[in-house]
Amino acid sequence: MSKQTKTKTLYVCDNCGQEYLQWQGKCDQCQEWNSLKQIHQAAWSNAVAGPTDQTATIKHQALSKIVVGESARFSSGIGELDRVLGGGITQGSLVLVSGEPGVGKSTLLLQVAALLARQQKTVLYVSGEESEQQVKARADRLEAVDANIIITAQSDVMALVSIAQQITPDIMIIDSIQTLNHSDYPSSPGSIVQLRECGLVLQHIAKRYGVTIFVVGHVTKQGTIAGPKVLEHMVDTVLTFDARSDRAYRLLRAEKNRFGDTTEVGVFSMTERGFESIADPSSYFLAERSVAPGSALTMVMEGRRPIVLEVQALANKTVFGYPKRTAAGFDNNRLQLLLAILERHAKLPMSAYDVYVNSIGGLKINEPAADLAVCAAIVSSVKGVTLPEKLCLFGEVGLTGEVRKVIQYEQRIKSAERLHYQTLPYQSSLVGVLRQLKLLN
Ligand SMILES: [Zn+2]
Repeated sequence: MSKQTKTKTLYVCDNCGQEYLQWQGKCDQCQEWNSLKQIHQAAWSNAVAGPTDQTATIKHQALSKIVVGESARFSSGIGELDRVLGGGITQGSLVLVSGEPGVGKSTLLLQVAALLARQQKTVLYVSGEESEQQVKARADRLEAVDANIIITAQSDVMALVSIAQQITPDIMIIDSIQTLNHSDYPSSPGSIVQLRECGLVLQHIAKRYGVTIFVVGHVTKQGTIAGPKVLEHMVDTVLTFDARSDRAYRLLRAEKNRFGDTTEVGVFSMTERGFESIADPSSYFLAERSVAPGSALTMVMEGRRPIVLEVQALANKTVFGYPKRTAAGFDNNRLQLLLAILERHAKLPMSAYDVYVNSIGGLKINEPAADLAVCAAIVSSVKGVTLPEKLCLFGEVGLTGEVRKVIQYEQRIKSAERLHYQTLPYQSSLVGVLRQLKLLN
């Protein structure tokens, strides 16, 4: 066994996480000087595993003997979280929950802790960000206090291993990874070396003891998880909280998931009592829908879930100079392109108009499926004609004024019917669609 766990020496850049076999003065990846730290790779596993570790002695077995089974899963008690995780929490998985500070990661995980505690599961909540009293105060507010939640402010990751061995939790919540520290390494908490070593220890706890571990990881304003890539490939699942904190809702996406696909999106509204799942995002986003010239509905696919959204456009005659074009929640270049297409093919004098386009509710539209609705909203504003209230438009508009079917076209039609929206029979030209909508003669 001692032969199999031979210590390997590695050098890791404390600035970017790049690994090297030999020391060098400057990191090739991030150009930082003197940032390489020496790491003995097996040091942690010796300390954690001890001489009784079985995994080192089982070297190989016949492939045919491997039993394939669904990993044990259980519900988090929050529908939208289960959805993003691929159908519930997988036992023994390591889940990174990332997002900007203040976006609600701790709140969501405290809610999960309470819901699981009520299912008689033991939850170990490791709070490095807030004092135990602060967490208790928040739990009181969220009505998330339960005797099965055990809290510690311990930040030494090896001490956490001992605590985990004593109380054998079903779930561990680490808030946050940036506050953990491995005393074998001289780097400060939050540095790449610490993130990496602490991540490895957590990975080991998860796999060896079957504990599901949720790890909070803060991201910087630039959108990278501080210290990040090292963690991303160490964990089973990376969940990202969308950072538009000015809105009363949050989107949770899986950027990586070993136990499900990454196309699912969870939608939550934020209330005083914490997050609530929004099972029907369309009605949520359309709650304050206006029916007036300049408004059109489109359907976007967030993962496999269709969401009906309102697109608004305002077209005003340009008073002087160069016309303004501003898009919010929609690509500005795409807007320019659609205006050029309208000018050319629908013979509308768009260059004489300032045009503003807005995706209502703040959900970003990233797919060309919204082209048709954006065009219709613009022309509806120019002409002062209101579109039918329940009409949902989707189609990609091409440079020659053609309308193309978008991916999952049939599914969108069916979804629209199911949600009681109308669609138009497929038309291959933009002008044809605009005429049918009585926006053009
Ligand atoms: Zn580097």
